[in-house]
Amino acid sequence: MLQSRITITAMLLLSAIAITISSPTAEAKSKMQKQAFGKTPDGEPVDLYILGNKNGVEAAITNYGGTVVSLKVPDRQGKFDDVVLGYDKMEDYAAGKSYFGAIIGRYGNRIAHGKFSIGKSTYTLAKNNGENTLHGGNVGFNKRVWTAKDVSNAAGAALELTYLSKDGEEGFPGNQNALKIDYSATTDKETVVNLTSHSYFNLAGQGSGDVLQHHLLLHADRFTPVDAGLIPTGELRKVQGTPFDFSKPTAIGARIDQDEEQIKLGMGYDHNFVLTRGSAKGALALAAVVHEPKSGRVLEVWTTEPGVQFYTGNFLDGTGTGKGGKPYARRTAFCLETQHFPDSPNHPAFPSPLLKPGAHYHTTTVYKFSAEK
Ligand code: BGC
Repeated sequence: MLQSRITITAMLLLSAIAITISSPTAEAKSKMQKQAFGKTPDGEPVDLYILGNKNGVEAAITNYGGTVVSLKVPDRQGKFDDVVLGYDKMEDYAAGKSYFGAIIGRYGNRIAHGKFSIGKSTYTLAKNNGENTLHGGNVGFNKRVWTAKDVSNAAGAALELTYLSKDGEEGFPGNQNALKIDYSATTDKETVVNLTSHSYFNLAGQGSGDVLQHHLLLHADRFTPVDAGLIPTGELRKVQGTPFDFSKPTAIGARIDQDEEQIKLGMGYDHNFVLTRGSAKGALALAAVVHEPKSGRVLEVWTTEPGVQFYTGNFLDGTGTGKGGKPYARRTAFCLETQHFPDSPNHPAFPSPLLKPGAHYHTTTVYKFSAEK
């Protein structure tokens, strides 16, 4: 019997904010705290790791699903708000269906009909989204307990999370408010892999209303149109002249309800954008800039990935409560999930998500926060 393995290490790193005179390493280490977060439905204890930097920016991450539980960043007045959606309790994460803040794998987004082939082998996956497989199936990496290790270093507080998925199942300077996620994976049998992070952002603060007035700039000149099951048709369509053109900063809500086929199919934005990387193929490049006018908060997303799923929380329906008892209504957050394109295993023309034994999957995404004055 052949056993295949995939080891994922996501390094969640909150960089130190400034060049310090005292030892930055010692400072970074003192900013990692660990506390109990609760138990999985199987009774396994999970923890919450709180990573801070000198500016008071704080990320709370649980080893349950590698989930970003909270992310507190300053606005232009220096007021801190938590800018990601989520829950107060571990039980709600276990029961939740929205993937709030979680690491997504083995394959981010959809695979059509839960089927794909590698060479002569055809694989049949769990279908958990109509006819299709979404975000790794019924129990994706977001519902697994990861092994956590404090790997804080001179750049800041850092948490390494590792998960073994069995067979069948920068050059960035350190003085920024940034959450950097390094993903790596190896396998002992040819497989497909597509890891991402599913934070739902609201730069005015989680639970503070819709995100329609946030302005988005996307460095993408094409997107992948979808069918009724949100599976890419294979076409790479120019964004120019469509509601998908965010090449100049545009309010998310400006065209979200337009009478346009793709907008209707997604019930808003729920599409993969093809990033314009220039000559920087595979290098860290700026994918998106989001700006929230009232708070002045700005989020930059940098990635080595070829695509990004821009999702406007169209399926949030206000049922259930999030952190602080806040209801999360439709479009009260947006996700920018850096990724290989959805359903790539069935689209040979898309960048390949294939991972072979002996090869290393390594991608990096940086969520960088600032506030304009
Ligand atoms: C998908 C949406 C889905 C959401 C939460 C996004 O990546 O594209 O269709 O509803 O994740 O599951």
